[in-house]
Amino acid sequence: DLAPLRRALLSVSDKTGLVRLGKALSERGVELLSTGGSAKTLREAGLDVRDVAEVTGFPEMMDGRVKTLHPMVHGGLLALRDNADHVAAMEQHGIGPIDLLVVNLYPFEETVAKGADYDTCIENIDIGGPAMIRAAAKNHAFVSVVVDVEDYQPLLDELDANDGQTTYEFRQRLALTAYARTGAYDAAVSGWMAQALGEKTPRRRAFAGTLAQTLRYGENPHQSAAFYKDGSSRPGVATATQHQGKELSYNNINDTDAAFELVSEYPTEDGPACAIIKHANPCGVAQGPTLREAYMRAFDCDRTSAFGGIIALNQPLDGETAEEIAKIFTEVVIAPGADDDAKAIFAAKKNLRLLTTDGLASPGAPALAFKQVSGGLLVQDKDNGQVNVTDLRVVTKRAPTDREMSDMLFAWKVAKHVKSNAIVYVKDGATVGVGAGQMSRVDSCRIAARKSQDMAAELGLDAPLTQGSVVASDAFFPFADGLLTAAEAGATAVIQPGGSMRDDDVIAAADEAGLAMVLTGMRHFRH
Ligand code: 5GP
Repeated sequence: DLAPLRRALLSVSDKTGLVRLGKALSERGVELLSTGGSAKTLREAGLDVRDVAEVTGFPEMMDGRVKTLHPMVHGGLLALRDNADHVAAMEQHGIGPIDLLVVNLYPFEETVAKGADYDTCIENIDIGGPAMIRAAAKNHAFVSVVVDVEDYQPLLDELDANDGQTTYEFRQRLALTAYARTGAYDAAVSGWMAQALGEKTPRRRAFAGTLAQTLRYGENPHQSAAFYKDGSSRPGVATATQHQGKELSYNNINDTDAAFELVSEYPTEDGPACAIIKHANPCGVAQGPTLREAYMRAFDCDRTSAFGGIIALNQPLDGETAEEIAKIFTEVVIAPGADDDAKAIFAAKKNLRLLTTDGLASPGAPALAFKQVSGGLLVQDKDNGQVNVTDLRVVTKRAPTDREMSDMLFAWKVAKHVKSNAIVYVKDGATVGVGAGQMSRVDSCRIAARKSQDMAAELGLDAPLTQGSVVASDAFFPFADGLLTAAEAGATAVIQPGGSMRDDDVIAAADEAGLAMVLTGMRHFRH
């Protein structure tokens, strides 16, 4: 199963480590073939290289669109060395075998990430590279294919361990990596085109990302995990800059995403807002006159849960807010910027990760959401639904006051980001109770109210925080019981989608309890 390595073709956009590899191969008696820029780099380092153009008898042409697309190259990659017909064909046409292909592709993903225009992105779609990679990978019975600079040294080690040859197992693993790369590459092209053309149907898209980080483990230590990026340049956890602290873990990335997506529902120009997340659910969300106060108000919703949480802010982090946050243990803070005071304060907290983004996420923008099921993948539009005052229908005798109305809209935004069944109590632009992930809606109502009582006791208040609040429900109340629980907890107004068979009963109960209620006509399940 050992295959000799006599001739190599090197064609790389990223020239990192190329000369070192070329030298090492040369020293081991390997003949080098190469394309324009790569050949130049190798030659300048004093290496003996043959141009692919000389082998094919064709110059590189059409701005490099056609360089290696030739039977002299593809025959050399694809010929089965143990097949008499293939060997005869090689001899007849003067095709020399290529035993090693080293390619890294035109930097398509990087070009997109830089925000390049349409034509520039198109020009950065590599054609000959993927064709060669796929050919060499298919013929891994004989050929080695390297698509990643990280594999240069392992290749040399393999040659040294096997007297200048490679093992079948080694070539198989290289082929696997190679197809992962070409698959991801085409998916990146497809994803970019879908975005450029505003294509929304999942049916027309291929999915994949590029490996950004191998994670220490997944949701639990016995699960291995990795972070893939899809090449989007939008503000978010995938594009944020980390200023300090350990590497983010799987759960950190998940929660940071949840926090940032939620806080981004509150535009910067509407004033400071803060969201604190634990296990992907918010345990406090608030607006405030200053960022520090927004944080403190969010913290006061559920101080116990906020410990070890993840904080997202909708304004650049300032010194006084950083000082307040630094008082308790927090895993991650993400914000659209941070000033020097804030950075200096956090520098003393070695374990705290600070991430900054280039603006807020766009919760209303179209995107796709995926969920894996056994044997398949569910794909849907991301829940980017948003409502405003004009979408609401008042169904009770009493209409909401202005304060109730603004609190209901606030609560509705939070409810969208809480696992169903979601119940969110809000008062004066701050959550005062969150009920998440219960199998019964009435339980979510009760849990949120009880937590608010506990919090009131901790703060030394007589009345529960839910006294005089409004309540949002992510989906309709199937019965009046949940709504009545909220009324008992002191809620005075309700926002919910409506649409239950028993809407009339629920509305009658609201009227009887003196509540104001509005229907959104939109549901925010999140499972
Ligand atoms: P170089 O810098 O050596 O001139 O070009 C290397 C790059 O060209 C590599 O990224 C390789 O994948 C790509 N490449 C090699 N052959 C072809 C081809 O026939 N067409 C296109 N479009 N790209 C090629």
